[in-house]
Amino acid sequence: MCTLKLAIQKNGRLSEQSLELLKTCGIRLANGDRKLRATATNFPLEVLFLRDDDIPQYVEQGVADIGILGENEVLEKARNVATLDRLSFAACRLSLAIPREESYTGLRYFNNKRIATSYPRILGAFLKEQQIVAEIEEIGGSVEIAPGIGLADGICDIVSTGSTLLMNGLKEVETILRSEAVLIATPGIGPGPAAILEQLRFRIRAVHNAATHKYILLNAPDAALAEISTLIPGMKSPTILPLAREGWSSIHSVVREDIFWEVTGQLKKAGAEGILVIPIEKMIL
Ligand code: ATP
Ligand code: MG
Repeated sequence: MCTLKLAIQKNGRLSEQSLELLKTCGIRLANGDRKLRATATNFPLEVLFLRDDDIPQYVEQGVADIGILGENEVLEKARNVATLDRLSFAACRLSLAIPREESYTGLRYFNNKRIATSYPRILGAFLKEQQIVAEIEEIGGSVEIAPGIGLADGICDIVSTGSTLLMNGLKEVETILRSEAVLIATPGIGPGPAAILEQLRFRIRAVHNAATHKYILLNAPDAALAEISTLIPGMKSPTILPLAREGWSSIHSVVREDIFWEVTGQLKKAGAEGILVIPIEKMIL
């Protein structure tokens, strides 16, 4: 039987959330002890656990049909793979940082400086585009200690909260890339795995839509129904049910999480009362 082969990070910042995504998509793994591979019991999927650095190559070669990893790694490796979806987790940025006591004068600060990084390709392309001539010191890890030990003047590394930089006496001065986990696919995916991939992406979208929307219920006087319906149009149109109390209705709809507070204010102004907000588990458009 045909299966889809998915590569995810074995151990690291993406591992838990990649497995969590499969779980919320209703996919159960048989031997989830992350040895090297695991098979799903209720979906035609095989999971390969790898170092994230190796995932672009495995996916390019078709050893895995698809992979989940940070976009930063996809761009750095520059393999022939297709980026299909952004997955809204593992958000971070690739930034330039310098010792805290240095005064920063703009990108030209980096002219004739040495910059330590694990992302020589992305950094090289950025510096070229910005017409900065700097030396790139490629190192595999612990980049943030490079200035302190005299290996470089600055660094280019992944930052999420900035606490690692702070601990190492560095300050972030430029962001050169914003990254998050992405789903990539091999260019020559066969029709069998491609069909399974579409089922998986369908589930991922349903989970993502659910996470970014809320179900909302409220009561309003009938006179306010028209205005409220335009504020919360929902997927097609809101559901309106009459209340036992004459002249009042209950309105049910779906709102995007990011505009939720703004909309709630407008709803109250329009006459809405007793607003209830409920999480959605899956949402299929
Ligand atoms: P591996 O052993 O698989 O090569 P790694 O050490 O290269 O692991 P991790 O530190 O686990 O990688 O990070 C994996 C990815 O998580 C990064 O490439 C990046 O996309 C994302 N990420 C999110 N926040 C951070 C952060 N604060 N520091 C590093 N990576 C982060
Ligand atoms: Mg790695």
